Formats: sequence, C-alpha cells, structure tokens
Amino acid sequence: MTLASNTYDAEPIPEAARAAIDAMLQSGDLFRYTAPQDAPVALLEREFATLMGTKYALAVSSCSAALFLSLKALDLPRGARVLIPAFTFAAVPSAVLHADCLPVLCEVGANYRIDLQDFEAKLGRDIGAVIISHMRGHTSDMDAILALCTARDIPVIEDAAHSLGTRWHGRNIGTLGRVGCFSFQSYKLVNAGEGGIMITDDADLVARAIIMSGAYEHNWAKHMAGSDPALGAAFERWQNRLPLYNLRLSNLSAAIIRPQLAEIPRRVRDGRANHDYVAACLNDSPWLDVPPPLPPEERAPDSIQFNLVGMDDAAARAFAAAAAAHGVKVQVFGQSTDNARAFWNWRFIPGDVPDLPQTRAMLMSACDTRLPARLSRSQLDLIATAICDAAAEVMGQTARYGT
Ligand SMILES: *Cc1c(COP(=O)(O)O)cnc(C)c1O
Repeated sequence: MTLASNTYDAEPIPEAARAAIDAMLQSGDLFRYTAPQDAPVALLEREFATLMGTKYALAVSSCSAALFLSLKALDLPRGARVLIPAFTFAAVPSAVLHADCLPVLCEVGANYRIDLQDFEAKLGRDIGAVIISHMRGHTSDMDAILALCTARDIPVIEDAAHSLGTRWHGRNIGTLGRVGCFSFQSYKLVNAGEGGIMITDDADLVARAIIMSGAYEHNWAKHMAGSDPALGAAFERWQNRLPLYNLRLSNLSAAIIRPQLAEIPRRVRDGRANHDYVAACLNDSPWLDVPPPLPPEERAPDSIQFNLVGMDDAAARAFAAAAAAHGVKVQVFGQSTDNARAFWNWRFIPGDVPDLPQTRAMLMSACDTRLPARLSRSQLDLIATAICDAAAEVMGQTARYGT
C-alpha cells in the first residue's frame, strides 16, 4: 500500500459556512463596516476573544499584517531594534522591516527553541520589542523569556501563527505576551485561505491597531460591543492621528473561519495524538531524533519536525530523496536553495548575514513533514515507515560503502 495523492489535502470547510456565504452572495454585504453592527468579522472577533480568554481581538488580512500592526501599535521609534528568533518564517523579519524597525536575530537550539543565553545577551543591546515565533508550534521557555523582558520593560509580541491551541502551564499561547498574533492561511489549524487575528488586553494598543487596520472615520464604534470606557477613551485619543493601512478582513473570510472555531479542540487532540504516535516510531530509528516538548508545554501540531543524526549534507539530501521515493515529502530546512525559513535567505535585511552557527547547524539537519490531524492510523504507519526506511537505506549504504 502507498499513500494516496490527497493525503496532505486540507479538511473540508464545515457545511455551516455555506448558508452564511449564500446569504452574503445574495446581499452583497461583504465589507465589515457596511452593517451597523454584528457583521461576521465583528462576531468572529468577539468569539475568538472569548475562546482565548482575552478582552480584545482584531481580525486582519494575515498574521503578517497582525505582526506589522502590533509593532506600529507599540509606537516604536523608527529604526527600533526588534529581537526575533533566527528560526522562523521570512514573513516575520519582513513585518519588522515593514514597520520601519530592524530585525535582530537570536540563536535557536537543536530543539527548535530560543537559546536563552544568546537571547539574554542580545536583549541588553538596545532592543525596543521582542517577537517570539512559536515556530511550527514549538514553544520556547516563556517563563524565562517573560521574566527577562518584564525586568527590562520590553514588550513581547507572540507570533502564534502556527500555534493555535497550544498551551503553556495550561494557558493559551498568544495570551502570554502583550499581544498575540495568529494566521488563518491554509497551512494553519484554521483555514480561510488567508487571514489573521491579534489578541490583547491592552485597550490603547488595540485602539491604535484597529484604527490603523482601516477603521476610518467613526467605524471604530463597530468594535465596541458594549460600554468600555478605556477603549472608548483610547479611540477618542487616536482619532485622525494615525495612518490607515487598510489590512481588514472580509466578511466572506469570517464566514469560513467562524464554524471552524468549534473544530479546534478535535483538531488539536487528533493532531497531538498523530504527532506523538509518529514521533515514537521515528525515535526508534538510530538516525532520527524528535526533540521532546518542554514540560509546561501542551502542543497542537499539524506537522512533525525531527533531526537527522550522524548524516552529513549529502546523506541528508539523499534521505529527503529516498523519503520522496517512498511517497513522503520531507523538507530539510537548510538543504534547499530558497527555503524561506533559513535565515541566510533573508537577504532583504540590511547588513551582512549574521553569524548564527547553532541555528545554521540545526537547519542543516532539521526535517519538516506535514501531518494533518485527519490522517488515519494506517496513513501514519505508512508515513513513519517511509521515513525510517529512507534513513536506513541511506545510512545502511554509508555503512556498506564507507571507510
Ligand atoms: C504562517 C506563518 C506566518 C505568516 O502568516 P500569514 O498569515 O501567512 O501572514 C508567520 N509566522 C509563522 C511562524 C508562520 O507559521
């Protein structure tokens, strides 16, 4: 038996979205500010804030837009230095540059988490804000990070694009820092094609972000579900004083997202069970290593990352080719020429490529393969067997034909 070609396809959108979309096609009411109140985007924001346990949520066009608006809402001076992990998606340093700030890259260890020694050392060098990317849902030591940042009064933005449903000491990821940002792009837990959302308890910050997201004139009033004197005062304070970047979400996207919110617990549960099952299989191979989560972390994975053990670059590339021959697409982050998660490909950052040997070494042996929550046990067995067999083929040959 081999893997079916649709193994990695997205889940269907819940049927409930269809009626809402049909009604919108009839009415043409696609813009969030046309209705006097309770537009689908506004309802999504209220539901998401309730789900996460925060006061405010602002839905926008992407997680990148949410990161950009978060930095703008913090009112950092032009050229402010923003500390980010060197293992993240290119959208993160891009959002920093877009906000007229300068990304500073911090080392990441073999377990895909921020190296705290390098983090602390760089935090002392005139850092205006920190973005923590929970890359592929891996949570860095947030206790240590928040303690270090709080002591220096440096705001923390959580890039939880790929971490919806993850918990740290039982608390929702995205609620630990000053603001948390999520993505609804198709490869994330909730799929609207495109979209993002930011959450915070900070009335002044969210008022600034709402206006800059494109709430022109008095449209900010449609973000108030009741009396909130702090939020009302913040809107009055910032009215007409901020640029409008128009990064709004469409009602159509909100209608696709809202019925998926109820699916999150199942996707998290199944995704974690699938991941842990495949991780146990891979850890049985002497050439593969899946780093464990940190103790306070409950993960919500829809993919698996593992390190190749004892393979040089040629073996790593041969391994990826062998896995592909078995029908499983495995990407070794650093072994392709244009991977958007390899920091040396972020040539748009001013200055030389930074020297980050630890992160570079990790990227040269860290593998990435998708593991959607809806896979069956037999599909998981096929994937795990293909990966282990590919490693054995490559390393077995090395042993036979080696020195
Ligand atoms: C997907 C992703 C982003 C970007 O999200 P968009 O909604 O596509 O802008 C940012 N950071 C991480 C860690 C991601 O996985």
